[in-house]
Amino acid sequence: MSETTLLLGGRIHSPGNPDATAMAVTGGTIAWVGADHVGRALHPDAHVVDLGGAFVAPAFVDSHVHATSAGLLLNGLDLTGCASLTEFLHALRDHVAEHPGTLVWGHGWDETWWPEQRPPTRSEVDAASGGAPVYLSRIDVHSALVSSALIERAPLARGAEGWDEHGPLTRVAHHHARSAARESLGAAQRREAQLAFLRHAASQGVASVHECGGPDISDPDDLADLLALAEQGGVPEVVGYWGELGALDTARELGVRGLAGDLFVDGAVGSRTAALQEPYADDPSTSGVLYLDADAVAEHLVECTRHGLQAGFHVIGDAGVAEVTEGFRRAARTVGVPTLAGMRHRLEHLEMVDAEQAEELGRFGVAASVQPLFDAAWGGPADMYARRLGPQRGSRLNPFSRLAASGLVLAFGSDAPVTSVGPWASVRAAVHHRTEGFGVSPRAAFTAHTRGGWRAGGADDGVTGTLVPGAPATYAVWETGELVTGTPDSRVQRWSTDPRSGVPGLPDLTPGTRLPRCLRTVLRGETIYTRDSSDEEH
Ligand SMILES: [Zn+2]
Repeated sequence: MSETTLLLGGRIHSPGNPDATAMAVTGGTIAWVGADHVGRALHPDAHVVDLGGAFVAPAFVDSHVHATSAGLLLNGLDLTGCASLTEFLHALRDHVAEHPGTLVWGHGWDETWWPEQRPPTRSEVDAASGGAPVYLSRIDVHSALVSSALIERAPLARGAEGWDEHGPLTRVAHHHARSAARESLGAAQRREAQLAFLRHAASQGVASVHECGGPDISDPDDLADLLALAEQGGVPEVVGYWGELGALDTARELGVRGLAGDLFVDGAVGSRTAALQEPYADDPSTSGVLYLDADAVAEHLVECTRHGLQAGFHVIGDAGVAEVTEGFRRAARTVGVPTLAGMRHRLEHLEMVDAEQAEELGRFGVAASVQPLFDAAWGGPADMYARRLGPQRGSRLNPFSRLAASGLVLAFGSDAPVTSVGPWASVRAAVHHRTEGFGVSPRAAFTAHTRGGWRAGGADDGVTGTLVPGAPATYAVWETGELVTGTPDSRVQRWSTDPRSGVPGLPDLTPGTRLPRCLRTVLRGETIYTRDSSDEEH
């Protein structure tokens, strides 16, 4: 018989048992939840862990990540903090000086914040990098600055769609440059990056990540290595997705959950490649790019459904969402709504979706894999979305409340490295949405980052992602202040600490309050992260 671990003296987030202080785990499964003295009596031989008042909740799922790129950022050149073009060039110069003779992989520049309001030119990048191959993705990863030395390794980029003699590369030219940069990475450098990312995710209370690979953004070896790394244990579980039309053989060889994730219907708003019904407000010459039409979407959905595979797409702009919705309609006519809906196909981002489309996609059983930190970074009346789309259109993105009300399964993620892995920050962003009425309750947001992620990844057994007997013992232990609870129909303002509500409490997520700090992360009974004194925050 496997040993039982008994956690005592904590605050256990268990539905229907809001006062629970103890939890017993046997063989990777939750055996029991309740009060300390009962736990001791029921499990006299258990290995006892004193929680010291800590909060124990289901571990988070990050439903959209790019482990290698995010890990390269943890180990490499992080440009997200650059406040100006001048600062950017300094950061690049310093990095090259510290890492001579290697490929420079960086990420996160965003010229819309800079006083100069423009990215650097290629000759500025060349001058700052002294002839090194350089790949620097924009914050939304849909365009990149590259050095002339990298272009020498990516001859197909020159003259391809999206090629620019002086500025950032987009579209096809960008994809060629990115492939060349990836090929310039050694296997060891890549493994190091993947491990760094998975360990970082575990340190944030994340026990499962959905890796969105695909031919345009990674390669099969990258995904195969990542899945093998996770199989060895000691890190979060990796659910793999491969974003390629009809690639059934690749799916089988890789052992992915689905042909979904970053299968691009369009691009992103920041790079003006999200497909729009009306032109961009700050560049009326373009309405973005549509990579796939409704027929291609429908065909992929039908093929995957017939082979029992999850399908899915990356879609952001309103024209893209219209195309995808039409694709679902056509697929439903072929295989029938119940069969289609039973597959729980998924859509990534789904940022510009109207009420009618949300209703339809809900009926088609779609899981919406969305990123609340996008709204925190770019939403509201005056930030990037509003600049690109105009204040009206720009403040109608990411309607989480509409998606939830329409019956879509909401699953939250970071799209790391686009935003960093910070699940509580993401839950908070979903509650305090920058557009009035688009947010969801703390409970709905927390569920979307835990159980919703498992459901979107195919674990839809009703218990996974909750702390109840019979569920996998996948949880995180948090240091946090007083918990707050709310009545089921409450608005944020009416949340109280009333213990009679019968709903398990959550940390206070009021903006400005300190977010919970992860002490331990456990995946099916195995500890994958323990905080030690060296982890003190800066
Ligand atoms: Zn992505």
